[in-house]
Amino acid sequence: MLARLGIARPSYVAVQRFLHAAIERNAAFDKVSEKDVAFFEQVLGSSGVISDPDALVPFNRDWQKKYVGNAKVALRPRTTQQVSELLRYCSSRRLAVVPQGGNTGLVGGSVPVFDEVVVSTAAMNRILHFDEVSGTLIAQSGAVLQALDEYAGQRGFMMPLDLGAKGSCHIGGNVSTNAGGLRLVRYGSLHGSVLGLEGSGGDGRVLDLLRTLRKDNTGFDLKQLFIGAEGTLGIITAVAIQCAPRPASVQLALLACPSFQAVTATLRAARRVLGEVLSAVEFLDQACSHLATRHLEGVRNPLVQQLQPLEGPQGGGEGGAGATHGSADAQSAPFYMLVETHGSDVDHDQQKMERFLESVMSEGHVTDGTLATSEAQAGAIWRLREGISEALVRRGAVYKYDVSLPTAVMYDLVEVMRSRLAAGGYGSDAGVLVVGYGHIGDGNLHLNISAPRYDDALLSLIEPFVYEYVSRHNGSISAEHGIGLMKAQCLSYSKGAVAVELMRRIKEVVDPVGIMNPYKVLPPR
Ligand SMILES: Cc1cc2nc3c(=O)[nH]c(=O)nc-3n(C[C@H](O)[C@H](O)[C@H](O)COP(=O)(O)OP(=O)(O)OC[C@H]3O[C@@H](n4cnc5c(N)ncnc54)[C@H](O)[C@@H]3O)c2cc1C
Repeated sequence: MLARLGIARPSYVAVQRFLHAAIERNAAFDKVSEKDVAFFEQVLGSSGVISDPDALVPFNRDWQKKYVGNAKVALRPRTTQQVSELLRYCSSRRLAVVPQGGNTGLVGGSVPVFDEVVVSTAAMNRILHFDEVSGTLIAQSGAVLQALDEYAGQRGFMMPLDLGAKGSCHIGGNVSTNAGGLRLVRYGSLHGSVLGLEGSGGDGRVLDLLRTLRKDNTGFDLKQLFIGAEGTLGIITAVAIQCAPRPASVQLALLACPSFQAVTATLRAARRVLGEVLSAVEFLDQACSHLATRHLEGVRNPLVQQLQPLEGPQGGGEGGAGATHGSADAQSAPFYMLVETHGSDVDHDQQKMERFLESVMSEGHVTDGTLATSEAQAGAIWRLREGISEALVRRGAVYKYDVSLPTAVMYDLVEVMRSRLAAGGYGSDAGVLVVGYGHIGDGNLHLNISAPRYDDALLSLIEPFVYEYVSRHNGSISAEHGIGLMKAQCLSYSKGAVAVELMRRIKEVVDPVGIMNPYKVLPPR
């Protein structure tokens, strides 16, 4: 039986290519034994226990293929009771555990660092209840976001969050990362729309907070602790969430802007003129548009006339915002925005959108634009924005930073980083691209540095500079992706010592043995 678990790494030191410091395996954790596997099989049946090395590969590797662990076993419980039994057992045996949802996380939180036991929620995907009057939905934590949205859609509702990974990510993963996504500007954060949840602490105690009440002021709101805890406290097993009415009228505009100042002016106009129907405001720079159209099949930017085929790995078309010189897309703009409305009256919403477009075009904030006239067109425009992450991964190595900054100066970081890297020999000539896009309506910038390969010298130019910059500008080093493994050593840039100490103490109460997602979120002592 032990042979099925594979051969242990010779040394338990993970030298992460994306971290400056090597992380030592915590020797207090035991290793999975034959007896442990027998116990897991007794609880889950043999189909719920994966220990074949080939079958373990997807559990050990994250979406970006950047973080790779060495778990010897992955477990697929189907019920809360099973999760509770597994965690109680792992606590008693000092086996470290990493909860895994859809494994689309971008900060290395969802995969083991060493040989932690993976507990996947993939088999916990049942919808438990839907209230057609209030729109509250209760589902097991492994339900896929898109499946939930389709289910709610058939009943006239929609999920209050949407993101590019919706086809794979789980609602439990969304809640555990406090995912933001494309429509937070309208529907708010999960701290508001999650009405209740059920979870098991690291010691196996089940915390039943699965209420569907809008108002419930009965002491500490403990569910909030699990929202954004990234699996460091326990495993969320079910979620109750407030769905929103599905809009009868949806308008989507793709706009070209001549400068970042014009982008922020357009955002202000969208808030002012579109008001209560505004549902999303996104931006991307020219380089992002080029990346998506170049690396993803069938994706195009309808505002760009492609004049010549793009060539070579460092085609001029990827030069960055404002770098139109030498671009293959000679007519592309420095920035693009997606502005969407959700409303209940098509005529009213169209009038508002027209007024908004007239205003921003007459003031020169928008130089070109297109309005989707069908769902298919809207889908194609969204694909341009949602495909950027995938395009970056296809291009090569990518250093991803997801930060909150004051909106007006948000893009400065991209420009500062671009100059800094070019001065250090990592300009576009070296195949390095510094790009920016994100949820501008929420002050959330995705700064991405794409390079032909991972390179320690390049990384040392980026970090800790990027965190220092964000901290200096009163921003957050994680707007929505979380801390995970990637930023655990950098938490102090956004959280004070007292706050970090309180987080540790709360973890000690909910996960007394400390088995839950070690090495993640909290910095090493
Ligand atoms: C193309 C693409 C686009 C994306 N767009 C966005 C975006 O717009 N906004 C955004 O916020 N994020 C975005 N993400 C990041 C990611 O999709 C989100 O973080 C998502 O919420 C993760 O869900 P998941 O089920 O894949 O969780 P996983 O990746 O499996 O896990 C994420 C973290 O949550 C923990 N976890 C998972 N399930 C549970 C559970 N049931 N109980 C306790 N802990 C758990 C894991 O241990 C890990 O720390 C994007 C990712 C991709 C690949």
